[in-house]
Amino acid sequence: MSRQRPGPDRGRLLRAARLFVSGTGERDLRRELDRTPSRVADAWSGEILSGYRADPARILGRPFRAPQRGMVVVRDIPFVSVCVHHLLPFHGTASAAYLPDGRLVGLSKIARVIDALSRRLQLQERLTGQVVEALAAGALAPLGVACRMEAEHLCMTVRGTRKRGSRVVTTAYAGSFSRSPALRAEFLRLCGAVTGRRKR
Ligand code: ZN
Repeated sequence: MSRQRPGPDRGRLLRAARLFVSGTGERDLRRELDRTPSRVADAWSGEILSGYRADPARILGRPFRAPQRGMVVVRDIPFVSVCVHHLLPFHGTASAAYLPDGRLVGLSKIARVIDALSRRLQLQERLTGQVVEALAAGALAPLGVACRMEAEHLCMTVRGTRKRGSRVVTTAYAGSFSRSPALRAEFLRLCGAVTGRRKR
């Protein structure tokens, strides 16, 4: 098993959850609230913020040699992250692509990198950039990388402007994708962004 990075502090999250529950003003549901702080601490330390324990470079591992030169696109990968400003989730789908230079990585590893980077406190713009950086860095050394993320932010739908159904789209590019509008257009077409069609 690979070494793990230090992750979230469950004890502190538990204390914070107790204080949070006591601050809600709820007086009638004491029995139901009994185990809530412990459940909250488990969910945040074990799942929602579990990405802090993961290292994208280790997830990607060693690429394998292959002659393919065509664009590799993994599209419609579901992800859930947490807005660093409001601690509310944002969730949606990501598509990532790279232009190989004689090396490929397992496709599931790209999804796992997105998972590792999204299960942290994040800004969607930063997250999209970090996915590109993770794929561009290291042994894969592709000619270019692209990522597009589309998400609904609960901080926009349950508070503030309360615009239900509005979605935030972010893109990031590196290498040949940054230089070539044609490559970017091809990527957006392959990930289904141009027609505006979405899977149900
Ligand atoms: Zn927010």
